[in-house]
Amino acid sequence: GEVIVSPMIRPINRGVVHRICAGQVILDLSSAVKELVENSLDAGATSIEIALKDYGQESFQVIDNGSGISPQNFKVLALKHHTSKLLDFPDLQSLTTFGFRGEALSSLCALGDLTVETRTVNEVVATHLTYDRSGLLIDERKTARQIGTTVTVKKLFSNLPVRSKEFRRNIRKEYGRLISLLNAYAVIVKGVRLVCTNTTGKNVRSVVLKTQGSASLKDNIISVFGMSTFSCLEPVRLSILDSCVVEGFVSKSGYGSGRNLGDRQFFYVNGRPVDMPKVGKLVNELYRCANSKQYPIAIMNFSIPTRAYDVNVTPDKRKIFFSDESSILQSLREALEKIYSSNQATYSVNRV
Ligand code: ADP
Ligand code: MG
Repeated sequence: GEVIVSPMIRPINRGVVHRICAGQVILDLSSAVKELVENSLDAGATSIEIALKDYGQESFQVIDNGSGISPQNFKVLALKHHTSKLLDFPDLQSLTTFGFRGEALSSLCALGDLTVETRTVNEVVATHLTYDRSGLLIDERKTARQIGTTVTVKKLFSNLPVRSKEFRRNIRKEYGRLISLLNAYAVIVKGVRLVCTNTTGKNVRSVVLKTQGSASLKDNIISVFGMSTFSCLEPVRLSILDSCVVEGFVSKSGYGSGRNLGDRQFFYVNGRPVDMPKVGKLVNELYRCANSKQYPIAIMNFSIPTRAYDVNVTPDKRKIFFSDESSILQSLREALEKIYSSNQATYSVNRV
């Protein structure tokens, strides 16, 4: 037969590596915007505006009134694995911030055109910063702005031809997923006003989400879904093994929604939106015993000591690894069984 010559093993060009890794952190429009919103929350913002152009395919902007970025950080801001939030591995076990890996801005640079406008309390003027594909600062000029930060990303995925085409083809779906994610934040963040606007080709700007920045989960749910939806919810509250507290709301058995688009089931760990397919399945399963025609709304926050889970399972930090998953699921099952097996009259007693 033919002799196969073993090809030489060589390192991949660094720019290519960066683009590949970036594509794993930033999967789509919603993960891109999520990273920016989380940065604003980490910076202590009480007002965050998300401004989209053409549903995000032209550009998206996250404008906050947080701490701003100090000039000493301008050069390293968008470099890979540069962060102000994590210094050493043990810190990983006591995380309270959303970010910590210093990958979001560097990834966004690799996948689109990134500019930043920022001003801290120590500056009288703001600075407009432009970064290149590798995260290097290539332009810096003075501008006017209030204290806070605006990050703008134009033409996301323009240099990944296949994903760029998919992105444009699926833009309505991408946009829908983004709005659902913003709703998830709007429900859980306390005291932060969220606004999302979309400007389409003919310069028509519409407000697609606007919250008051309430101080309670209940008020946030009312602000996002309306009072009539809220009145169809039943509170859930349970403690598991002294270390996990679950708090939230599920649909009363007679008041679900006809579809199960996943846009009305929000799960959080310590206030961080996460994917919990097993919990979602469990809620649907138990709800079905009481109501087989609809799907329930479910909003649940799991308060768990930071040492009991790991968010580093996937690059986009949406998957969570629990050390005590089975007992959490079992307790939740019992609590939901109680809600859905009792009749309306019994559980309307503890209505909020
Ligand atoms: P990470 O959030 O994991 O630290 P990022 O790439 O998202 O990594 O951000 C890098 C750094 O840039 C952050 O650690 C923070 O210091 C700074 N930063 C980013 N966005 C903002 C913002 N909106 N306000 C203030 N600082 C910010
Ligand atoms: Mg971040």
